[in-house]
Amino acid sequence: MSRILFFALLAFLAWLWFFKKPARNKSEKSKPAEPAVERIVQCAECGLRLPEGEALFSDAQYFCCPEHRDAHDSRV
Ligand SMILES: [Zn+2]
Repeated sequence: MSRILFFALLAFLAWLWFFKKPARNKSEKSKPAEPAVERIVQCAECGLRLPEGEALFSDAQYFCCPEHRDAHDSRV
């Protein structure tokens, strides 16, 4: 009976080890990969390149600032 308990404990430890290890590796790997995920877009008014997260999206085009978006909208 004690042998079954021993193997159950062993299996439980193995299960813990298997589920903890990939989770730790994932958090370490996702950090340096994050900047590469963001797309670089170009301002339709001045041509400045900037990350998509910082750009303004309007009329299927990207802009670097509200001034350039308004300038582009008033001309079109
Ligand atoms: Zn611009």
